[in-house]
Amino acid sequence: MPARPQTMQSKPLATSLAWIGLGANLGDSTATLAWALEQLHQQAHVQVQRASSLYRSAPVDATGPDYINAVAELSTTLAPQALLECLQGLELAAGRQRPYRNAPRTLDLDIVWFGEQQIATPSLTVPHPRWHERAFVLHPLAELLPERISASQLQAVQTQRIERLPQRWTAWAV
Ligand code: AMP
Repeated sequence: MPARPQTMQSKPLATSLAWIGLGANLGDSTATLAWALEQLHQQAHVQVQRASSLYRSAPVDATGPDYINAVAELSTTLAPQALLECLQGLELAAGRQRPYRNAPRTLDLDIVWFGEQQIATPSLTVPHPRWHERAFVLHPLAELLPERISASQLQAVQTQRIERLPQRWTAWAV
């Protein structure tokens, strides 16, 4: 059999670790976050490695019900843009609408960090531009990566109301 042309040979894709922020403040937010992690874990090129506790936080720069938040650590062979599209597909499937900026939402999924990559395209900024300003990102991240979040970073967001919830993830298990 003739050798496959060079362009057809499949190259193993590098695996990256990515950290995503999950949030919801409409509907059964806890169930929606668990659903999102299950869906992500079922994607062919994504594995959910770890998830923080669930948190309840006050909306920032917005009104509406409290949010339920968490951060998850993924390993993935997807490129950052493909991961973003995957997350946006899940937001849509969860009934996400965008009537106005910072509107309450059934599901919000953001890429906080993608390995050590720095990305600035029209559709994707990584690290997420506001990750260090948000208690609902910093506290769950500090649980997963305590060595990467400093006490002064946590102190800087101490006026933002947030509490760690005692309840465990319902449906999701790796
Ligand atoms: P949001 O209203 O928070 O869901 O913002 C979604 C918009 O932010 C989309 O248009 C994305 O293309 C853009 N975006 C830029 N950087 C990121 C990121 N790191 N994670 C998620 N969305 C991002």
